[in-house]
Amino acid sequence: MLAFIKEVCEIKSMNSSGREEVSTLEIRHDPLTGRKARINVTRAKRPHVVTALAENEGEATENNMCIFCEERWDETLQRFAEEGIGGKKGRIIVGSGKSKVVLVPNKYPFAKNHTIVVLGGNHETRISRIHKQTWINAFLAIRKYYECLTSKHGRQYIYINLNFMHPAGASIEHPHMQVVCEDSVLYAHHLLIEASKKFRKKHGKCYWNLLRKEDKERFAGSGDYFDFVCSFAPVANAETYGIGKRKPLDGHTKEEVKKMASDFFRMLRAYENAGFKSMNATIMFPLTTKEAEALPVFARFIVRPDPKPHYTCDRGFIEIFHEEPVIHILPEELAEKLSKLL
Ligand SMILES: [Zn+2]
Repeated sequence: MLAFIKEVCEIKSMNSSGREEVSTLEIRHDPLTGRKARINVTRAKRPHVVTALAENEGEATENNMCIFCEERWDETLQRFAEEGIGGKKGRIIVGSGKSKVVLVPNKYPFAKNHTIVVLGGNHETRISRIHKQTWINAFLAIRKYYECLTSKHGRQYIYINLNFMHPAGASIEHPHMQVVCEDSVLYAHHLLIEASKKFRKKHGKCYWNLLRKEDKERFAGSGDYFDFVCSFAPVANAETYGIGKRKPLDGHTKEEVKKMASDFFRMLRAYENAGFKSMNATIMFPLTTKEAEALPVFARFIVRPDPKPHYTCDRGFIEIFHEEPVIHILPEELAEKLSKLL
């Protein structure tokens, strides 16, 4: 029922000394949507050199403190204009000490309800240095915000997102998440829901259940909340899916939200331990129980080039205009690696 279709091509070329070289390219079709990914297997198999991160790399000092460092929160962060969100201060603060987080409106929003959650007051550039409790507090702050928002404006789609480090699109290095709430579903989420419904109609089974049970080759492990499966036809390097529970965010207990946060952190830390330094992640939530039947709570993680002054961007014409990403990390090898690190 799960059709893992790939076309394999061998591409010959000559290197600078005149020796013939063969590259193996796999064109894979996503089993649910048919979207194509191009995996250069030869490139995936080349040796990787992972440099250790310097202990104090990127830390802010008193002189270069960024706008998300706690000492500057008061003077730099936005506040909610709407009464009833974030109390008197207009900010949602959860936790204390090193794991204190603050959720505020995004100063430059690209959605009607677009907020940011600063992940602790310390300027960290490594995932593993952000405490687990900080991630939990961030998710609890998001839950609190969502409750406030929906009690005022009705139910909304919610997306929890992360751009970690500048190659991933972070304009401010200090770790933070971004939360987008919208009346209507976002485009990619809509396509996934529709394709999932179609699959169920055709095969009488849930695609996501099949995937987490049957895709042994790319199964990376189970956490307390998510089952992690590496994508067969990734949208970017090292894409992993987190398949969660079948309910909207407001149907989750506080304990379930804490487990979701811990698993989110667990996957990001596994990526870091695998040598990746910059990543994107998102969690999409169904709006209704009916929608959750088609697509459960769904997380996606990818990695980006290492942050360095002259890195090569991983989005070129083929990714942007033709929407067929070129991949150089083999999903099967990634799954094997992550399964040991999760
Ligand atoms: Zn900072």
